[in-house]
Amino acid sequence: MNAIPTQDEQLLFEPTAPDANAIELAFAFPNTYSVGITSLGYQTVWATLAARSDLAVSRVFTDASDPLPSDLEILGFSLSWELDYVNVLSLLEERGIAVRATERLAANSTAKAPLIFGGGPVLTANPEPFADFFDVILLGDGEVSLPAFIDAYQTVRHADRATQLRHLAQVPGLYVPSLYAVTYDAPDGSITAITPIDADIPAIVAKQTHRSNTLLASSVVTERAAWPDIFMVEVVRSCPEMCRFCLASYLTLPFRVADLEGSLLPAIDRGLKVTQRLGLLGASITQHPEFETILDYIGQPKFDDVRLSIASVRTNTVTRKLAEVLSRRDTRSITIAVESGSDRLRQIINKKLDTDEIAQAAIEAKAGGLKALKLYGMVGIPGETEEDIDATIGMMKGLKKTASGLRLTLGCSTFVPKSHTPFQWFGVNKKAEKRLKRLQKELRSNGIDFRPESYNWSVMQTLLSRGDRRLSYLLERVRHYGDTLGSYKRAFKDMRGTLPPLEAYVFTEFDRDRVLPWQHLQGPLPIETLKKHLAEAEALMN
Ligand code: SF4
Repeated sequence: MNAIPTQDEQLLFEPTAPDANAIELAFAFPNTYSVGITSLGYQTVWATLAARSDLAVSRVFTDASDPLPSDLEILGFSLSWELDYVNVLSLLEERGIAVRATERLAANSTAKAPLIFGGGPVLTANPEPFADFFDVILLGDGEVSLPAFIDAYQTVRHADRATQLRHLAQVPGLYVPSLYAVTYDAPDGSITAITPIDADIPAIVAKQTHRSNTLLASSVVTERAAWPDIFMVEVVRSCPEMCRFCLASYLTLPFRVADLEGSLLPAIDRGLKVTQRLGLLGASITQHPEFETILDYIGQPKFDDVRLSIASVRTNTVTRKLAEVLSRRDTRSITIAVESGSDRLRQIINKKLDTDEIAQAAIEAKAGGLKALKLYGMVGIPGETEEDIDATIGMMKGLKKTASGLRLTLGCSTFVPKSHTPFQWFGVNKKAEKRLKRLQKELRSNGIDFRPESYNWSVMQTLLSRGDRRLSYLLERVRHYGDTLGSYKRAFKDMRGTLPPLEAYVFTEFDRDRVLPWQHLQGPLPIETLKKHLAEAEALMN
């Protein structure tokens, strides 16, 4: 294992020297150093932990690690990508740590295993397929739950593991999966109930929300990052648009914006003293009410050498000014998520955007000097027909004429139902695969770059986004068979009778009253509100 390349890191925070009896804690990103250090969430949690004198913090990646102490007490994982669970299991095994929480609990009286915690977007959305691998899962914004977790652990540091877990389960946002029993109507049937194993364990665990206008900024800049030398600032958190499928909006509500004078602009200044590359992050950065001021600030001559990268933006907020600032700051293209060329489908998903506005965005992008426009779409959206695919083809052909000379790309995925959104009850549409092929044929033959995402990957993502705890045994098998759709099918075959078939998890529309695997984990909106939004969408489908 390589050492962490600290010689290339420029730190933007002061790590604190650990006290003599500090807790030995390792914080892992279950992917390479380059990928992990580019995650603003990972950077922030690491910096928060390393600033505490009661912790001695090490870092672990799949290809680089600090030397770990023999008396490691806590090992945490930031899970940003579903399939990285494979690396979580490998990192545990390589260190001789049992992968299941129950095995660690049983072993704890004799050989002390570290407490394993997890956090990050994948685990906040639906932790259940991975729940058995973790002792504690932090739900929601780390700014709130992380200090609460460490403080609570301190008070039971020397207790046995069972006592520790019961104490941690009392802290808002800390989910201890082993303290919840799941029952089924048959081994391969539906969930009948999810209940705490004792009356003193909370029945519902609520995701925690950071209610502040100070949002995240990079704590480390390094040329080894996937975006070399980038300094990142979070401009907004969540999105107020509430497109019915969108996890980035529904799971992270309410919409919060960074305070300019108090935090965002000083952070940009700090970062641009150490690098010339700036990334503005957030689900919908152009919806910051003072976005124009941010553009003016970055547009100043003193930042002429800065290279600016931005996340995808809302289509109807693409202005000539934005395009000009981007092209002057070394960015040649802009990405907009349009979802579909069909006005009808966009109404169904609550995307408040019409086709004329998409054409206007292309005109503004070209006029502002950008060379390329990337659009993101989806197939298999609930309510979609072949006519809606025709509309997408028509829209792309129209754009080619409207903004001739602008390089057009359509990236396209398959609709994946996500927990805590109004579309969580829908399954994947099997016609999606054919529709991707149709778009490919018709667009490429018209000289439009079409980049489909793998349909099989969408199937696996759906399994994990709607799955329950029984999947942990399947995932262990899949890991040994190799991570392809074929290996999932093989594992399902092996385990027939012990869990529902792939079809039931991925393609079946869920009954509205069924107990969902994440029903005991409370997102920002009550389930009744999600049902109301679903009903509004369904009323537009016929
Ligand atoms: S505009 Fe984009 S980020 Fe916002 S809710 Fe819609 S899809 Fe999500």
